[in-house]
Amino acid sequence: MPDADRAGPSTLVKAGDTHILVDAGRAVVMRMAGAGSMPGILAAVLVTHLHSDHVCALNDVITTHWVFTQGHATLPIYGPVGTAQFVERQIAALEADIGYRLEHHEALTVGPQVKVTELEPGDEFTVNDVRVSTAATEHSPARPTIGFRLEHEGSVAALVGDTVPCAGVDTLAAGAGAYVQTVIRRDLVKAIPNETFQDILDYHSGVTDAAQTAARARVERLVLTHLVPPPTPDQYPEWIARAAKHFDGEIVIGGDLTTVTI
Ligand SMILES: [Zn+2]
Ligand SMILES: [Zn+2]
Repeated sequence: MPDADRAGPSTLVKAGDTHILVDAGRAVVMRMAGAGSMPGILAAVLVTHLHSDHVCALNDVITTHWVFTQGHATLPIYGPVGTAQFVERQIAALEADIGYRLEHHEALTVGPQVKVTELEPGDEFTVNDVRVSTAATEHSPARPTIGFRLEHEGSVAALVGDTVPCAGVDTLAAGAGAYVQTVIRRDLVKAIPNETFQDILDYHSGVTDAAQTAARARVERLVLTHLVPPPTPDQYPEWIARAAKHFDGEIVIGGDLTTVTI
């Protein structure tokens, strides 16, 4: 939900010098600047699914990467089937801007350079020295959707996007140092008198779901992000208390620019 203090869903993973962005929600480039990163130094963008709240700022990531690298670097983007067409259309929508810049800057001779890799659940690959594995998540009718497990020097982060609890999430999160889960508060959403809004109940994890997954997967810490409806900091203890009923590890509320070190 639009909120003055919350950008859209995105998480930056820093593994040594390797910066990997998972999803590109509203205002992500501003938040990257706040987190000491920039699109131009990204080693990869990983996309969980093509819901607009997770990809609406991808055009900004692509354009900023292009302008700051002056077209000398390629931005690798990984996502489920459909990602290549989405990126192609984003670049097509930017056609006028690309034309203006190419005409104006003599040093700039090519448009945005991207390399899109579409993934099937179960695919594995590396980004520099970060090992990435994937699994199917369950967010129907948004499909396909995938989650990611990133491993670097013995540290593991699982970032699974929007999903209800499922085997794929359990696999990705198993023993992770941080399991990052997008969540809603079912009790609060149910109280909002809006029929369309009620529809989000059946394809997201609630706080209890996320905590139960965290316990089952024996993770070290649960990081709650994409909080709907967005809590104010004084409401954080209530969110944490609900999760703590089911999970006795560390519970972190992912307000913007929250940093977790594994
Ligand atoms: Zn979604
Ligand atoms: Zn979402």
